[in-house]
Amino acid sequence: MVKLKTKKEKIMKYIIIGNGAAGINGAEAVRNIDSQGSITMISDEAVVPYSRPMISMALAGDVSFDKLPVRNADFYEDLKITPVLGQRVSKIDPDNKLVFIHENISNKTRSIPFDKLLIASGADPRPVKARGLDLGNIFYMRTQNHVRQMLNVLPDVKNALVLGGGLVGFKAAYGLISRGINVTMLIKSSYPLSMQVDDIAGKMILDEMLNRGLKVFSGIEISGFEGDENVKTAYLSDNTKTECDMVVIAKGVLPAVSFVPRDKIKVDLGIVVNENMETSVPGIFAAGDAAQYIDIARQVSWVNAIWPEAAAQGHAAGTNMAGRPFSYKGSLGRNVIRIFNMDIMTGGVVLPEKDSCCEIFVEKKKKQYKKLVFKDNILIGMVMVNNIEQGGVLLSLIQNQVPVKIDKHRLLSPFFNYKQLI
Ligand SMILES: Cc1cc2nc3c(=O)[nH]c(=O)nc-3n(C[C@H](O)[C@H](O)[C@H](O)COP(=O)(O)OP(=O)(O)OC[C@H]3O[C@@H](n4cnc5c(N)ncnc54)[C@H](O)[C@@H]3O)c2cc1C
Repeated sequence: MVKLKTKKEKIMKYIIIGNGAAGINGAEAVRNIDSQGSITMISDEAVVPYSRPMISMALAGDVSFDKLPVRNADFYEDLKITPVLGQRVSKIDPDNKLVFIHENISNKTRSIPFDKLLIASGADPRPVKARGLDLGNIFYMRTQNHVRQMLNVLPDVKNALVLGGGLVGFKAAYGLISRGINVTMLIKSSYPLSMQVDDIAGKMILDEMLNRGLKVFSGIEISGFEGDENVKTAYLSDNTKTECDMVVIAKGVLPAVSFVPRDKIKVDLGIVVNENMETSVPGIFAAGDAAQYIDIARQVSWVNAIWPEAAAQGHAAGTNMAGRPFSYKGSLGRNVIRIFNMDIMTGGVVLPEKDSCCEIFVEKKKKQYKKLVFKDNILIGMVMVNNIEQGGVLLSLIQNQVPVKIDKHRLLSPFFNYKQLI
């Protein structure tokens, strides 16, 4: 219910940095509770909030750019938000409660005061160390603008090199193949999606990719690029080279926290928050890819950089900022991925440490694979390749840490259902 301010109550000034999943859910939660406070939303992307996971579909030509927005064009107006778009936050002063913005056109810095601040600045692509990175046609794939830039050069591209075998690398490769480009993937580990799956599922995925015409170099890294204006040759760590006229760097992400004062606000890999999504400085909150909180499966502080957690964290942060206590229970890394005709579903801890005393249950058929990881009687991880229908039930067991008191093998059965646990 929207609460109206009495005369004596202070009108709050909220600032939200970032207009991604965390930022927009944060803003909506604030406005849902506080109808009068001022909300300023700052983002260096000057666009209506859009689905970042779907940008690869625009690369593939499966959707047009006008299908990417996740809120309509009146979003800011409807929620009485003051948008400050196309501008970057350069600094935060937690003591004086100021956010500093660098204005590109005037090249000047101005400050905006806040009572409550949400840092929802997402993540930046993890950079690579290689010579020749300043050559043309070398891209990251984080924003829709990156994809537009790629599409602009595609008519002159025949051979693309994708660095990284994670989710974004795979999505980039798929998009480029869909556009008729020859794609080579360079993967540091011995199989793709090594952060999400184990070696058995990874090998199945690798075989599927090879069968579909992708060239994959595994266990190899990039060492440099050469070309004239644009990239022409990539030099690899095994002293070989490969011709390419486009490169996509997809080596994971790092929380976008360069403007956060680490001497004031606690930052580990991401900005460390409590169950209210509040940082070490009262009144300053963080959510989404930039934030770090407990991972439900691992029970350690972790950054799970996925859309549903960014949205949930943004909602929790906004609710608390507006003064209504709301506890966020922790995040869970999970993915549903379709790789050509192969369905993959993963969640939680897939590769437990050797000395972690976890119990592992596996079922492998020709084109199917299922692996469940238990710690005591709690399911903490799973991988499914094909026939993933039961994945939702298993994920919910992990998320809710439901004790499994029946024979654990029964969870591998295609006929397993929740009722059997009760
Ligand atoms: C190609 C791709 C595919 C993906 N696929 C999936 C998927 O299938 N499933 C899934 O769950 N997740 C996926 N993700 C991850 C998902 O998109 C992110 O977890 C989610 O978008 C994070 O939301 P966020 O609000 O935390 O950050 P973001 O969406 O990154 O938003 C942060 C915003 O803040 C802005 N910003 C950053 N620094 C500043 C600054 N200093 N000043 C002003 N503005 C700033 C950024 O430019 C950005 O607009 C994918 C990501 C990519 C790139």
